[in-house]
Amino acid sequence: MKVTIDKWIGVSTWHWNHAQDEVCGICRVAFDGTCPTCKYPGDDCPLIIGECKHAFHMHCLLKWLTTESSKGLCPMCRRRFKTATE
Ligand SMILES: [Zn+2]
Ligand SMILES: [Zn+2]
Ligand SMILES: [Zn+2]
Repeated sequence: MKVTIDKWIGVSTWHWNHAQDEVCGICRVAFDGTCPTCKYPGDDCPLIIGECKHAFHMHCLLKWLTTESSKGLCPMCRRRFKTATE
């Protein structure tokens, strides 16, 4: 599964307002924290937002997409996951 990242969410856009939920839908850790494999929030552990407006830690999402059961779908709404391009 090859994933195209159209947009990286860095610190300049850290005050996101797209997320409907304040925790990552995969690891359930808040977005101002990090995914389970990172230590420092921000640039080192960016967020990724899909066209469906679901947001995740990028690392959590990439890990999810490498699992066979993901089938390239958003884990929240089961729509094909594509990064938002706005
Ligand atoms: Zn996460
Ligand atoms: Zn991370
Ligand atoms: Zn979704």
